Formats: sequence, structure tokens, C-alpha cells
Amino acid sequence: NADISLYRAKEQGRNNYRFYVPAMNSQACELLTLENRLHHALRQGEFVIYYQPQVNIKTGEIIAMEALLRWNHPTLGLVSPKKFIPLAEENGLIIPIGEWVLRTACAQNKAWQKAGFSPLRVAVNLSARQFQQPNLVAMVRQVLAETGLSPHFLELEITESTIMQNVDKGREWVRDLYAMGVHISMDDFGTGYSSLGYLKKFPFHTLKIDQSFVRDLRDEPQDTAIISAVIALGRGLNLRVVAEGVETHQQMELLQSLQCEEMQGYWFSMPLEVDDATNFLNNYRMKSKLPGHGDNKKK
Ligand code: C2E
Ligand code: MG
Ligand code: MG
Ligand code: MG
Repeated sequence: NADISLYRAKEQGRNNYRFYVPAMNSQACELLTLENRLHHALRQGEFVIYYQPQVNIKTGEIIAMEALLRWNHPTLGLVSPKKFIPLAEENGLIIPIGEWVLRTACAQNKAWQKAGFSPLRVAVNLSARQFQQPNLVAMVRQVLAETGLSPHFLELEITESTIMQNVDKGREWVRDLYAMGVHISMDDFGTGYSSLGYLKKFPFHTLKIDQSFVRDLRDEPQDTAIISAVIALGRGLNLRVVAEGVETHQQMELLQSLQCEEMQGYWFSMPLEVDDATNFLNNYRMKSKLPGHGDNKKK
């Protein structure tokens, strides 16, 4: 992966982020203004979406594909969203980028449906800045209309910290989206603040347990305590619970023993480039490879 880092050119004002690219050519480093690079990337089609399946290990179904953004930089290769999304947030470019992700992911899901795959949701991450746009709901509605995707096959992932930054309006918008039939998930659950209060105030369908709780999961009571509590909480509130970052067979089995049925992680699949994601769906249609999968219960 590209070894780049970013620093803020303090003396030049708050939006002046620059890329610091160690040893890119013969030079020791190269500076590029991020804003120009991100604009260029959007215009030149350098952004790509990878898709990672979310599975129900009880029914064996693929329930969703999460759209995960990458920047396919001509010289740096694939750049992780963690490297550029915070900056796109700050300079506002996340608005057009986020809309592009939503439109592309919805169109792709519609294409999978037309190709005859069992309908599944496409899950799109919403950034804090997007979650402050007064036209958010209208934008989502328009993208759904343009792509012809039913709202039931779109899932929006929102983190607690995103919600925290716009509680009042945000609640109205989430309610509108929920009423439209869009599936709403709380992402990275357990890493923010006041999660429990928001669970009461906001209509959610799903809690995604943050991968930090799954990572250290072994057969120790302390490791399973939080996850068991979240699963119980989800059940009590009639929410689905998805475990993120499931990497090993052992984690999968432990989660299963805790009655967590929906999972996402490298154990099932890495995030896949669109053709590979289509192949994954294709292979899956022919014979399920999911561990713990009993009868083939497909629609
Ligand atoms: P997230 O939404 O919580 O996505 C899950 C992250 O965990 C992804 O990282 C995924 O590749 C990674 N992951 C999945 N399974 C495993 C596993 O088994 N082990 C480990 N260690 N990691 C796993 P990724 O793709 O680098 O994305 C990082 C974050 O960037 C996302 O976290 C999300 O917050 C943000 N992001 C990605 N795409 C978008 C986007 O289109 N818009 C916005 N606003 N944010 C995005
Ligand atoms: Mg997510
Ligand atoms: Mg997450
Ligand atoms: Mg995350």
C-alpha cells in the first residue's frame, strides 16, 4: 500500500493540507496540494469502489455489500480512505465524492439485480459533512430515482460521532430516510459517546459492532462481555447486529455461539473490486462456501 502521509502547512491556513510522499521519484519527497489532487481524481475517474459482503451465517445468505472507497492513484496505487476522507471532509470535496459513491453503488446494485442475483442491499458510508447537508434526503431520493434502485436495497451507515455533530436535524433526516424504506445502520458501534441515548432517539435497523471488539475475541469472558451485551441490547431493541472485522474461524464460531448471525470481515471476503465482487456473487449462487451454512435458503 502507498506509504503517504499528510501534514498541515500551518503557516498557510487551515485548508492547506499537502501530500508528503516520501521517495516518490529520485527526489526525497514531493508536495502536491491535496485539493487539486482530489478534484483531479474525481474528474479523471480515479476513485473506485470495492465491495465487501456481509453474510448471515445462519441462513447462508449474502445480505449486503458494503461500498468502500479507494483512490486509485496513477503512481501511488490504491490509497486508503483513511488517508484522504478526513481531508475531503475538511475542504468539502466529500460532498461530490460521497454523491458519486452513492450513485455508483446504487447503480451497481441495480445492475446485479438485473443480472439475476438474489437481491441484496448495498451499504454506503455517510460522512459527517454529508450528514450536515440540508439536501441530504432529497439527494438520496434523487439518486434512487435516477438509478432505479428501490430504497429497500440501500443501506446508509452512520457513525455515532457523525450523529453527534448534528443531532436535531439529523434525527429528522434519518426518520425521513427510514420512512422512505432506506435501511439505517449505526457503524463502529461502541467507539463513540452516548450511543445508548441515540439508539432511543434515532430509528435504526442495525448496529455494526466495531471491529476493535472483534479483534481480540478469544475464549475469555472479558473479551465476549461487550459483544454479548451489544447483542442483547440489539435483540431488546429489535435491531439487527452485525459483527465487523471477523478475520478468523475462531472469531466466527465464537460470535455464532453468542447468537450473532450477521458478520462481515476478511474471513468471508476481502473488499473486492467490482468484477471480483460479481464473481463472488456468481460462485456463491452456484455453491455456497460459507462456513456454518446449512440448507441453501435462497430466494
Ligand atoms: P468502516 O465503514 O467501518 O469500514 C470497515 C473497514 O474495515 C474497511 O476499511 C474494511 O476494508 C475493513 N475491514 C473489513 N473486514 C476487515 C477485517 O476482517 N479485518 C480488518 N482489520 N479490517 C477489515 P477501509 O475500506 O479502509 O475503510 C475505512 C473507513 O473509511 C470505513 O470504515 C469508513 O469509515 C470510511 N469509508 C470508506 N469508504 C467510504 C465512503 O465512501 N464514504 C465515507 N464517508 N467514508 C468511507
Ligand atoms: Mg461502514
Ligand atoms: Mg465500521
Ligand atoms: Mg470504521
